[in-house]
Order: sequence, then structure tokens, then C-alpha cells
Amino acid sequence: MRRARRPRGVTVKTPEQLQLMRAAGLVVGRTLEKLTAAVRPGISTGDLDALAEESIRSQGGIPSFLGYHGFTGSICASVGPEVVHGIPLPDRVLADGELISIDCGAIVAGWHGDAAVTVAVGECAPELLHLSAVTEQSMWAGLRAVRDGGRLSDIGAAVEGVVRPHGYGLVDGYTGHGIGTAMHEPPSVPNTAPEGPGRGMALEPGIVLAVEPMVTLGSPDVTELEDGWTVVTLDGRAAAHWEHTVAVTPNGPWVLTALDGGVSGLTPTPGLDPGRPRT
Ligand code: MG
Ligand code: MG
Repeated sequence: MRRARRPRGVTVKTPEQLQLMRAAGLVVGRTLEKLTAAVRPGISTGDLDALAEESIRSQGGIPSFLGYHGFTGSICASVGPEVVHGIPLPDRVLADGELISIDCGAIVAGWHGDAAVTVAVGECAPELLHLSAVTEQSMWAGLRAVRDGGRLSDIGAAVEGVVRPHGYGLVDGYTGHGIGTAMHEPPSVPNTAPEGPGRGMALEPGIVLAVEPMVTLGSPDVTELEDGWTVVTLDGRAAAHWEHTVAVTPNGPWVLTALDGGVSGLTPTPGLDPGRPRT
């Protein structure tokens, strides 16, 4: 079968370049691990931001979000009804029972890594924990679809396959993306596949993508706050956001921002994976 033509601007990385992207990915992965451990009631999103910048710089990285179109943080910290792009602030103190999404990016030797986690602050309601768990599972289903011979819409189809049965909202208008020497490269990576899998750009070794489902408890409709950044749900209900940077390799997906390369997350856990992916 002939491959579909590669869209304009999509770059294919060499194995050597993937190693450099792995270094950036590890900086992001280690930073998010530290931030996850630091989340607790009473800490501010500004405190988390300071921890992130220190972690990234101490590993020889540059925080890619800082100064990006004027963004003032090294992380995006999106709490409760905030979906993505929340600005970390010293007076935004986390409270018990909130859900926070932390998005983090770093540059090492000119190459980018980008990942996000959603973390419970103290004791969260079961419905919030479930929302986050399903969102994470949908991300892993999407990551599993990032393989040689696949097509771009396989990712959105896999994400939807996990999220839809739960009746949650999938935020439209915000997508994953290609990534390399820029944080955002073509193509856009939608979290839905209206025409099903098997459509769009062919996935081949050296393609690197950020897969990042944004999932809401209620309606998927969102709006941007007057700060020009923070995206919130219109109905004020909670959202979750998970993200990893992943490379297509001849041996399957390599999750560059996962400390174990994605080995554990890519292995479906029976009974825990509501949308068992096609293999
Ligand atoms: Mg991100
Ligand atoms: Mg991203």
C-alpha cells in the first residue's frame, strides 16, 4: 500500500534526534514526578511553578512555556473547571478535593518535550478521580495507536473509544500536535475522529507527536478567560488533561516523556481499560 503524502511542515526525526528528544522528555518526566509529589492542600500553583523551573534548569533544560507568547510560568496549572493553560500564581492556593492539571515543557539542546498530568489535591471525590483515570487511559490508548503503518485519526479514534462510553465531554478546538525543535509543529492531533480511524497522515518511524486528551465531567464547551490564557468549562464542571510526547519507532511507540519509555502505560491492564485498543 502506498503511503499517504506527508503534509507540509511535518518533520521526521533521525534516531540520533530521537535520543535528544528523549533527553528533553526525561527532564519533563522527572519534573512532573516531583510536582506530582509536591501537590497538597496549602501549596500554591506559584510554588509548583518555582519548583518546576528549578527542576528543569537543574537538569540542564530551559522551561519552554516561560515567555511563550508572553506566558509567565514554566508550567500551566489548571485547577477545577480550568481545562488547560492556567497561569501559575502565588496566591492560587490549592484546596483539599480539587483536581489540578500540570502541563510542563522543556528544551534540551534545542529539542522539546511536552507532557501533562492531572493530580488530586488531598482527598478528591470519586467522580473526579474517575474522570482523571479515564482521561489518562484515553491518552494511553491514543499513544498505543502511534505506530508505523497507522494513520493520524487512529489516535483520536482510540481516545474517543475510551472516553465516550463514560459520557464525558471531549473538548473540541484544542488538540495535540507535532513536536521537535519547536513545541508546536504540524500536524494537529485531534482527540476525536469523526470519520473513524484509518484517515489522515501516515504514521512512520521518526514522527513525534504530543497526545493530549482534555476531558470534561459535563459539557465539552469551553471559553477563554480575560487573562488571555486560561481555558475553562462553560458549565463550571471539572476537567482533566493528560499528555505525553511519543515517537513512532520500528518497535512501536516510544513515550519520550515517560520515565520508563511508556512500557508500563502501554501495557493495557485488564479490567482497568474501558476502551481496550485495537492492536
Ligand atoms: Mg503540554
Ligand atoms: Mg502539548
